[in-house]
Amino acid sequence: MRALVYNKVLRYEAEYPTPEVPNGDVLVRVMKAGVCNTDLELVKGYLGFSGVLGHEFVGVAEGGDHDGQRVAGEINLACGECPTCLAGMPTQCPNRTTLGIDRHDGAFADYLTLPVENLHPLPDSVSDDAATFVEPLAAALQTLHITHISPHQRVVLIGTGKLGLLTSQVVALTGCDLTAISRHDRQTDLLRGWGIDTARPGEVETRNADVVVDCTGNEQGFAEALKLVKPRGVIHLKSTYNGLPKADLTRAVVDEVQIHTSRCGPFDAAIRLLAKDAVDVESLIDARYPLEESKEAMAKASERGVLKVLLEIG
Ligand SMILES: [Zn+2]
Ligand SMILES: [Zn+2]
Repeated sequence: MRALVYNKVLRYEAEYPTPEVPNGDVLVRVMKAGVCNTDLELVKGYLGFSGVLGHEFVGVAEGGDHDGQRVAGEINLACGECPTCLAGMPTQCPNRTTLGIDRHDGAFADYLTLPVENLHPLPDSVSDDAATFVEPLAAALQTLHITHISPHQRVVLIGTGKLGLLTSQVVALTGCDLTAISRHDRQTDLLRGWGIDTARPGEVETRNADVVVDCTGNEQGFAEALKLVKPRGVIHLKSTYNGLPKADLTRAVVDEVQIHTSRCGPFDAAIRLLAKDAVDVESLIDARYPLEESKEAMAKASERGVLKVLLEIG
């Protein structure tokens, strides 16, 4: 099969082996996949990954309970047996591998495999394009699972890339007083179109937010969030990157700031929101490439200001 493979160098391969299907797993024929910032970090050395990249996809299940159906797939492959799994937290399983991120080949290929319980059939009202956003939208929704945001709170979101734009829309659904900070006109226009207040960096009062959500995807985000959060407020970190933050943790202690984090989230809720058109994802799509040009797609996705790049696979 065709695949985009990273092993110290990034290589498109026309004849990569089709994955073996372990017991309980299902073969999925990939239709489309989205390039995520995590993919760009992985090729910089994040997690020491090697294998097929890609974890945001829509495909058709071949076999299993959802045979022939269009599916999205949860990316954590948990053991199902350890105390963490038995406590209902499979995404935190210490024995897990992760599709396209950690020791399990991903979605930038004709086929992938996932356990049948990871697959979510999609209603017809969710288009193929929209379905590639189920995984990142679920990650955006996890913000609300971890941090209770009340409609009375002042929330500031920093980092208006792909995940920041999804998270902004999800946070706005709470009715809170949300301001998204962006220096880019394109993002500002999108956010305003969705009825979300925006500001330029430096325009928002410091130490005034009940909650600051960091979607910057870089090591400066945490320090920036510390400037904006009020004493006893919450900083919610969504950024994963290959590096370490430089931030005044003493200040965080003195101000009794709470640090929340979240990662993968509820697929069912993401599919519901997309089925009801409650979140706009199509406006984020900037470019499309065939799988043969997946290296070019990665290069495009790493250009400044480019939002979602999709691979059209099959
Ligand atoms: Zn991702
Ligand atoms: Zn486990």
